[in-house]
Amino acid sequence: MESKLELEPITLPGLENTRPLVIAGPCSAETEEQVMNTARGLAENGIKIFRAGIWKPRTRPGAFEGVGSEGLVWLQRVKKETGMYVSTEVATAHHVHEAIKYGVDLLWIGARTTANPFAVQEIADALRGTNIPVLIKNPVNPDLELWIGAFERLNRAGIKKLGAIHRGFSTYEKTKYRNHPMFQIPIELHRRIPELPIITDPSHITGDCNLIQDMSQEAMDLNFDGLIIESHECPAQAWSDAKQQVTPAHLKMILDGLVIRSHALDGTPSQTLEELRGEIDKLDYTLLDALAKRMKISEAIGRYKFEHGITILQERRYDEVLNNRREKAEKAGLNPEFVVKVYEDIHEESIATQNNIMKELSKKQ
Ligand code: PEP
Ligand code: MN
Repeated sequence: MESKLELEPITLPGLENTRPLVIAGPCSAETEEQVMNTARGLAENGIKIFRAGIWKPRTRPGAFEGVGSEGLVWLQRVKKETGMYVSTEVATAHHVHEAIKYGVDLLWIGARTTANPFAVQEIADALRGTNIPVLIKNPVNPDLELWIGAFERLNRAGIKKLGAIHRGFSTYEKTKYRNHPMFQIPIELHRRIPELPIITDPSHITGDCNLIQDMSQEAMDLNFDGLIIESHECPAQAWSDAKQQVTPAHLKMILDGLVIRSHALDGTPSQTLEELRGEIDKLDYTLLDALAKRMKISEAIGRYKFEHGITILQERRYDEVLNNRREKAEKAGLNPEFVVKVYEDIHEESIATQNNIMKELSKKQ
């Protein structure tokens, strides 16, 4: 479905055209002292937008669920004493009213909330009549339409200063990251809504303070607009997300180590090797996504053939595919022999996929 959003740039005075836009601060506001010490450390290291969770969505009850509105007074103090802008997560209409009452400059909607259209609508209604910038995290499940739906809900309520936060997606299997990045999703979001800024959250993607540097660089190489990074005066003592937080000094090292490249992506000789590689990465994510979809369809075909007693290998169809792809390859200026080789491998894998599904189905009989 076509998505038409009426957007305005997020204009925080003094930060126009800043790339990356950096938001940093603790996962949670814990005590006034922890908030102030962390904020001072960050301000001294050049950070301009402070984050702190005031209401925390925790997976299991009984964990620290945030200090609540009391913490908003600490954010006011951060603003007054350091000059930083302050931001926090809102998940209910009450959070929105409280955050606005205490002068929070920028809000974000958390990944669990984005997954719930009722909650997003409640927030949108509570925001009506304000002009506050709102960043929307991707939903925990990899559903681009649901993410776009959240932007539409806020936009229909008159909120125009919108941005996206890519924080990765939940998976059951364990990987080296806490959340699967699935870069093809924010890349597709950018393709669909090019004027929407995208901020990467390497803290929640990786879940590991040692992987934040590389993930931040990858986000910059994919040309995203900003970074939101969790920083705590003493990460080991943090009441939530201790493993992924970095000290303000460590954050400065990470940011200083980033190579920020321009977006001259027109194949001109001035493009650096890294820029060209970034482009290749993007295209590869799209290719992989398409391959994954293709294999899913092979599975469905395997199921169909099983149910209808048809053999897996259908030579005529295979010939047709090869001839058609050879022709298309020539027209696209590709070497047809290379493309045929690729299709032979794809076909082999597709046959194996169909075989597996048929074996599984016959076991069940
Ligand atoms: C957070 O940023 O503090 C947070 C809770 O993140 P997410 O919604 O991405 O899990
Ligand atoms: Mn966190």
